[in-house]
Amino acid sequence: MEKIKRTFVIDLLKSADYGKNVCVKGWVRTKRGNKNVIFIAVNDGSTIKNIQIVADASKFDENLLKRITTGSSVCVCGVLVESQGGGQAVEIHAATIEIYGTADETYPLQKKGHSMEFLREIAHLRPRTNTFGAVFRIRHNMAFAIHKFFHERGFFYFHTPIITASDCEGAGQMFQVTTLDLKNIKKTSNGDVDFSEDFYGKPANLTVSGQLEGELAATALGLIYTFGPTFRAENSNTPRHLSEFWMIEPEMAFYEIDDNMQLAEDFIKYCIHWALDKCSDDIEFLCDMFDKELIDRLNFVIANDFVRLKYSEGIKILEDAVASGHKFEFPVYWGADLAAEHERFLVEQHFKRPVILTDYPKEIKSFYMKQNEDGKTVRAMDVLFPKTGEIIGGSQREENFEKLKKRAAEMNIPDKDIWWYMDTRRYGTVPHSGFGLGFERLILFVTGMANIRDVIPFPRTPKNAEF
Ligand code: ATP
Ligand code: MN
Repeated sequence: MEKIKRTFVIDLLKSADYGKNVCVKGWVRTKRGNKNVIFIAVNDGSTIKNIQIVADASKFDENLLKRITTGSSVCVCGVLVESQGGGQAVEIHAATIEIYGTADETYPLQKKGHSMEFLREIAHLRPRTNTFGAVFRIRHNMAFAIHKFFHERGFFYFHTPIITASDCEGAGQMFQVTTLDLKNIKKTSNGDVDFSEDFYGKPANLTVSGQLEGELAATALGLIYTFGPTFRAENSNTPRHLSEFWMIEPEMAFYEIDDNMQLAEDFIKYCIHWALDKCSDDIEFLCDMFDKELIDRLNFVIANDFVRLKYSEGIKILEDAVASGHKFEFPVYWGADLAAEHERFLVEQHFKRPVILTDYPKEIKSFYMKQNEDGKTVRAMDVLFPKTGEIIGGSQREENFEKLKKRAAEMNIPDKDIWWYMDTRRYGTVPHSGFGLGFERLILFVTGMANIRDVIPFPRTPKNAEF
């Protein structure tokens, strides 16, 4: 048979071109059969589904058939046939089989049902499982939907730096970037490290957020978003924290807090809608395997308005719950930073819907948030989700130069670090707002996976940077 162009499995499974000669390339998931006929399930990554290859044993070299094992890679050409067996619409009756690479009995993915923990230890191979294939296809689709959402609304994708010499976001511990010889550190006369010898001539770090630079862009281009990796060196070993994660940070000139909330709600709903629409096979698989309520939960979020609630009202609800006997691990009082258990109580037990919590005490939020008239709270907004908890953190920004300067001083942020940021308030300042969505938190929600380490290809967490 002459060489024919390869078709993706996803297209073959939709095809009704029975009798057509086709060619498929992929990895063998299973092989079974008897001495007369062999069935090979091939997956090429284009879809969670496999295509079944039927090989007449008498037509092939016995040795070749023996070398086709789980994990090996093949090119199969043959005739597309309407399937007789249940479970699939079409199959390929093989005319030629070529093996690219064999996989012997040491291949770790021989059988199904490995634990997530074990699969993390073989993160270099786990994309070949159904679960991780599904998660990573969904992850791609979410990234695409995010760009599409913003592009359609006139936002510009703006690139903020990964390496930064300013440490004023206050979002967490930073990773230092240096080319100094750590075995031979030069000190200044008063005993400090001499950073004048370092690559940038001063201390530098990996960014924890692109927001401050994003504001520079929004006060020029109007509507912008960033979408890039961020790094936090905090030692939080939870199922919701990574030390390297991706963040989407839109920043909008002339948006006030209500516009900001509406955008956040529309944005998340758009992404979930996209996932249900474009990734239905993968989501159905994950729903069956891990989380029977997944699809209902996704539909529910799309169908219902998010609750808008002031922090002070939230505290009242939590205090009432405590008064009527509900036990929390952490104390509830006005001024407390809410713990995950408090957020989940509001979302899952009290409102049973996503909640946008606003107007937090200024002491527990960043210097740049717009100060309310009461002198106590700032125009912050956190979007809280069932199961996942906080998915978005944002605020209206303080646009008043004097107020911002005073707050920065109170929080000990040196002017030498933020003079450039202050210039947006010095020259043509405008009301503006923005937020940060943790990409992996969104993927957690959409896939129903339980641990954030399982929604990023190569997770980075304390004491773990393998692969
Ligand atoms: P959390 O309270 O959950 O630790 P945060 O308040 O420190 O988060 P922000 O600084 O508000 O987080 O960051 C914006 C968004 O980035 C969060 O709403 C969350 O979705 C995501 N995010 C923050 N820290 C992490 C992390 N370590 N790993 C993954 N995503 C994160
Ligand atoms: Mn936050």
